[in-house]
Amino acid sequence: MSALGAPVSAAASAILDELNDEQRAAVTHGAGPLLIVAGAGTGKTAVLTRRIAWLIAEKRARPEEILALTFTDKAAAEMESRVDVLVPYGFVGATLSTFHAFGDRLVRDHAIELGLTSQLRVGSRADLLVFLRERLFELGLERFLPLGRPDQHLDALLTVFDRARDEDVSPEHYLAFAAALAAAAGDDPEKRDRAAAELEKARVYQTYQRLLFAHGRVDFSAQISLALRLLRERPYLRREYQERFRFILVDEFQDTNHVQFELLKLLAGPNANLTVVGDDDQSIYRFRGAKIENLLGFLDVYPHARVLVLRRNYRSGQRILDLAHRMVRHNDPERLEARDPERFAKRLVAARAIEGEVVHWAFETGHDEADAVASEIAATVRSGARAPREIAILGRTHVHLDPFAFALRAQGVRFQRANQRGLYQRPEVLLCLNALRTVANPADSTASYAVLGDPLFGVDPVELATLSATARRTHRPLLELAGRAAHEEGALSPGSVEAILRFVELNRRLLEIAPRRPTSDVLYALVSESGLLGQLSATDTAEAAEQMQNLNKLFGIVTRVGPLLISDRVPDFIGHLDLLIDAGDDPQAAVVDPDDDAVQLLTAHNAKGLEFSCVYLVQLIEGRFPMKSRTDPLPFPPELDRRQDPKAEHEREERRLFYVGMTRARDRLVLTHAADVGGKRTRKVSRFVVEALELSAAPRLRQGATASESIARHAPAPSPPPPTIGPLPEDRPLELSHGRIDDYLTCPWKYRYAHVMQVPIATDPRAMYGIAIHNALNEYLQRRVRGLPVDADAVLQAFEHSWSSEGFYSREHEERRLAEGRAVLHRFVAREEGSGRTPLGVELPFKFHFGSNVVSGRWDRIDEGPAGIVLVDYKTSQVEDPVAATERARRSARTGQLGLYALAYHETRGVAPARVQLSYVSTGSVGEAMVDVETIDAARLRISEAAAGIRAAQFPAKPDPVSCRHCPFNRFCPYRSPGLDL
Ligand code: ATP
Ligand code: MG
Repeated sequence: MSALGAPVSAAASAILDELNDEQRAAVTHGAGPLLIVAGAGTGKTAVLTRRIAWLIAEKRARPEEILALTFTDKAAAEMESRVDVLVPYGFVGATLSTFHAFGDRLVRDHAIELGLTSQLRVGSRADLLVFLRERLFELGLERFLPLGRPDQHLDALLTVFDRARDEDVSPEHYLAFAAALAAAAGDDPEKRDRAAAELEKARVYQTYQRLLFAHGRVDFSAQISLALRLLRERPYLRREYQERFRFILVDEFQDTNHVQFELLKLLAGPNANLTVVGDDDQSIYRFRGAKIENLLGFLDVYPHARVLVLRRNYRSGQRILDLAHRMVRHNDPERLEARDPERFAKRLVAARAIEGEVVHWAFETGHDEADAVASEIAATVRSGARAPREIAILGRTHVHLDPFAFALRAQGVRFQRANQRGLYQRPEVLLCLNALRTVANPADSTASYAVLGDPLFGVDPVELATLSATARRTHRPLLELAGRAAHEEGALSPGSVEAILRFVELNRRLLEIAPRRPTSDVLYALVSESGLLGQLSATDTAEAAEQMQNLNKLFGIVTRVGPLLISDRVPDFIGHLDLLIDAGDDPQAAVVDPDDDAVQLLTAHNAKGLEFSCVYLVQLIEGRFPMKSRTDPLPFPPELDRRQDPKAEHEREERRLFYVGMTRARDRLVLTHAADVGGKRTRKVSRFVVEALELSAAPRLRQGATASESIARHAPAPSPPPPTIGPLPEDRPLELSHGRIDDYLTCPWKYRYAHVMQVPIATDPRAMYGIAIHNALNEYLQRRVRGLPVDADAVLQAFEHSWSSEGFYSREHEERRLAEGRAVLHRFVAREEGSGRTPLGVELPFKFHFGSNVVSGRWDRIDEGPAGIVLVDYKTSQVEDPVAATERARRSARTGQLGLYALAYHETRGVAPARVQLSYVSTGSVGEAMVDVETIDAARLRISEAAAGIRAAQFPAKPDPVSCRHCPFNRFCPYRSPGLDL
């Protein structure tokens, strides 16, 4: 059936409004592979999102049959919001995700088949360095044994392994390659040397992979290659995914690497309903293995694919397009347009009536450059000519943006930086690290000095300076000295005495638990007992929320890195962290910005796919943009690289990146550079500026500021006031879940702690036990659903894999829990085998719109009984009495989780389930409730009530002895029910 010939519904025709012929052909393409190659701003992303909406509106696919993939979280979120606008109410459930998130989910859901636990943890580069450093002598390094500078060497090795994953080279493959090199080397000493080096890399790669798996870890680049391995090795999974995702769409296809394309091919299967859009001139991830060849390779794999080219640009003025095109043509002949000018013509025609402006500013110094840009932006924003979010400053790297951030702050202009680093420099994080350092070593006077002087303790600065000087002179630890002075009558002011005693006491308590507990527990005791959590969580500003989230990030690092250590105790942890910090590890700090109308400071990479009215491309000098090419300290063998011509690409890649930068601008593009950016040399203007503007002579430099103006620049800046957290407008989506709704209705103040401030929560062995049991049940039930053989060992293994020793008070305590879990699972398996029932679905996610709220969750299990659908939720708490179980199920249906799950079923499947159940796995008792109209209505009411309160930012406390007892924040909550015995 021809897609265009099909009758078009009203919803679908709205989707097709405004599209040009090529775009419409792309959106309404029927089945089979489709390749869209087109330049920047021609509506590629628009076509993808409309195609998703069209497929749903025309009922060619149900939302959950659609998978759309892209590269950044920002892009995925943008896609999701565009689709939400286009698709009628209630239709959610399409998977719009990044490649990594998708690979991660797939691997997690089937980790057990890879011999991994589903509690996989994904490590950052820094985590993995710690992991490797801890196991330095297990790696079998000889030639690369990096005793002097471990991190550089290990980092270089990790880069080689990443490349191997991207090229789909397994350790075995790498080993075979190295062996072949050795065999071919003969007596040639140079060749033998190389073979030996490659052999060592291959062996370490193998060992690394084995060690990672053994510890339930994966690294970022392994996610996709593991997903690929699963689909390759398990035909039933491959079929399952092919049947599930009937339509696959990929944005920015030019940036896929070898494994990603392999994964796509397997997912798309024989039907190959695969739509990909891309622009060869915007391929900018070659260093991560991106392969432009994939664009044309698409036609080798799918020779009958339909090919569409879009030529009208809806974003920029013609002048901007012309100059960008002129510049990027310097990459000829390595461009599709150069190879086939007829088919892939790229001289874009602007659909907009404006000409568009491109200017170039040249300055003497980098200061002048930053000031000029900031002044113009300040003037534009003040005059109201452009909204701040319509303005972007783009740099080649984050560091290049620093002077501009400084200058904007001086002008009082609000701005936002993506991927802002500097977590370890944040005061609240420094406070915690320093306090931990005093636990690792109470004689660390630098750390004690920082903690005592922090406003949280607040020793008088003059007294602290005197104490510190004495400590240095007498070679005694500051903390000891301060403690003694605090007990001397009249030596210090009362305020300082109180502060010192408070810290000394805290330090003593932490020292007491530190030898027995993991780092995360010590950190938790520190933040809760010092009053830091209480203080921050009582403050209602975005700044406090930001600080809380930074603490959360620190907890994230501690709970990730701690278990990588052979011994997770504070002194070991701090030792490792200090090495990482020295090696330049610098995680992102949180940014809380409820008001996103701010000037955007981004790298050209981060700006991909986005658009702004006015773009400043800055620091355009040789050596910065294009950046100097760097050679990897340890090369990945070119023989294993599946890309053509890996070397000569650097300059072309930089040029494409520049092209991406230029084509972000709608109305005005400002190119700036300065001859003096510090350092001895005068810097030359970037070759890309010369190419774009066809400059024939060196540009004249603008005059710099006078000396007094330069000094004035260093005056403290009036920073814009920090925004407070306000209400959420009705048209902005609010994400809800059972947990969130329940928290809000239990106590809005608790909701605020957990979801607005995101206060860290101590590890709780009960929660871990519950998760491990759930994973084991899931393992068993998934096998039943798929008709695979089940054995009790696999179930126990899933349980043990998910286990972690964190949070247990003692070895006996842990052993008891483990034994109990095993017994529970044995009984569960026996009961299930006896029942002869097979579930309809297990661990199925749901998501539905409720007004502008999005509610999501997961059903543990769906059964089909004689009277209809039964939703089951598993509980690990001990309820034996069937009457009590029934009572609980009824309550949950009326006012809790089961009611919400019934509503979710009703909303997403169009019918209400017949019954809902709570199934207590420990005891085998089951509580059941009928679902009727009241159940559904009550659930709706609860959502409305919670959403209204959350949107209005109403968070009054609702103290109550029972809920306060179970509240994870009761240790510091000022409103907790009186008489609560903690
Ligand atoms: P890039 O290569 O930078 O990713 P793109 O090809 O994905 O760009 P889009 O971001 O989809 O382009 O579209 C660019 C702009 O043009 C967007 O603001 C989009 O809404 C608009 N646009 C696309 N098609 C049309 C159309 N037919 N009519 C009006 N505006 C359109
Ligand atoms: Mg796009």
